[in-house]
Amino acid sequence: MELLTEDVVPAGARDVKHEAREFAEEHIEPAAADYYESGEYPWEVLEAGMEAGLVAQDISEEYGGRGLDLEEILAMAEEFYRADAGIALTLQLASFGAEMLQEYGDDWQKEEFLRPVAQNEQLTGLAVSEPDTGSDLAGMETTAEKDGDEWVINGEKYWIGNGVEADWVTLYARTGHDENDRYGNFSLFIVPTDTDGYEAEHIPEKMGFRASKQAHLHLNDVRIPEDHVIGTEGTGFYMLADFFNHGRVVVGGHGLGLAAAAIEEAYDFTHGRQAFGRDVSEFQKVQHILADMRTEFEAARSLNWRAAQKVANNDNSGFWAAQAKVKSTETATMCAERGMQLHGGRSVLTENRISRVYRDVRIPVIYEGANEIQRNLIYGQW
Ligand SMILES: Cc1cc2nc3c(=O)[nH]c(=O)nc-3n(C[C@H](O)[C@H](O)[C@H](O)COP(=O)(O)OP(=O)(O)OC[C@H]3O[C@@H](n4cnc5c(N)ncnc54)[C@H](O)[C@@H]3O)c2cc1C
Repeated sequence: MELLTEDVVPAGARDVKHEAREFAEEHIEPAAADYYESGEYPWEVLEAGMEAGLVAQDISEEYGGRGLDLEEILAMAEEFYRADAGIALTLQLASFGAEMLQEYGDDWQKEEFLRPVAQNEQLTGLAVSEPDTGSDLAGMETTAEKDGDEWVINGEKYWIGNGVEADWVTLYARTGHDENDRYGNFSLFIVPTDTDGYEAEHIPEKMGFRASKQAHLHLNDVRIPEDHVIGTEGTGFYMLADFFNHGRVVVGGHGLGLAAAAIEEAYDFTHGRQAFGRDVSEFQKVQHILADMRTEFEAARSLNWRAAQKVANNDNSGFWAAQAKVKSTETATMCAERGMQLHGGRSVLTENRISRVYRDVRIPVIYEGANEIQRNLIYGQW
């Protein structure tokens, strides 16, 4: 059964899709269960992904990457998340946020920080969320104050992918205090993780996405030179909002990959399991559940790929990206929930892929903006 068909994938993204499928089958699927159990950072798979040219390659050719476009990244996401969400996130996070440096950074910054990421010599991450604030981007409390020709950063960040492993992070901090312009108070900074005052510790064990690592950052008088500001001071909120419009289409791809995995598992299990003297798949109720899962999946996938095209063409991006994220990630939760029920008692055995998927689907409905926030955006940009 092939669920991630290529008919909805534009011709230009199909080569990368095939590369990603091949890589996922060879490197991600066989490693998924072990990394899920150990919760360790999947360095080996990450390095294999780098060798295969599938990590941090959204960075342009000018700065050493392959310049993969949004549709190619989405095609890759579907394949990787079908194989394992935690490993997939680790592969994807190697350049998380770097798109903003590419878009708004100056030449020196790109040579110094972007090129090593594209060449897989360095890892990066995006530090936005805080212990007390996640959804309200204009409510973050970490500050950056100017002192001579330096910025001094103080505060805390939470949930930061690669916060421990990264060489530098793109950090979002408050640089203004204008109560009449909540959105103009933030800027983005390149913060090397070996700067004095930058401390990172892994957050406690998670129930899902086990092979990805997030950190709690403590920033105590972290001094960085003034040329580490990305773009114009005070425009951080807007750069981030635009970046998330792209990111959320890809998070839709996380949901689609997970939904595909749930459907595959549910279909396989019900075709072979016997009850009341017949195959479980022969009960009409079971067939209807499978039919609903498939229908929701196909609907989500059509919307998601349509949204990708809209975002690529800059056509009301926020509206479409938010819809793609809501529909695809909630299709994944629905498919996982039903897939569990169809597995009966075996659903809860941690060795079964459906139980991994069930735990993983809880996360894309939250990250890159909880789905409630997406609904605000959909209605607000109608
Ligand atoms: C595995 C994982 C990886 C992550 N990686 C990163 C990363 O690399 N970098 C980073 O910066 N962050 C990262 N995050 C953080 C993520 O983006 C936030 O968790 C998310 O934005 C939600 O913020 P919060 O957890 O603080 O929830 P809150 O903002 O505290 O919200 C809690 C809940 O309240 C409800 N709610 C909040 N506001 C509204 C509203 N306006 N209307 C209706 N309901 C509302 C929603 O149900 C929401 O889920 C990651 C999170 C996870 C779980």
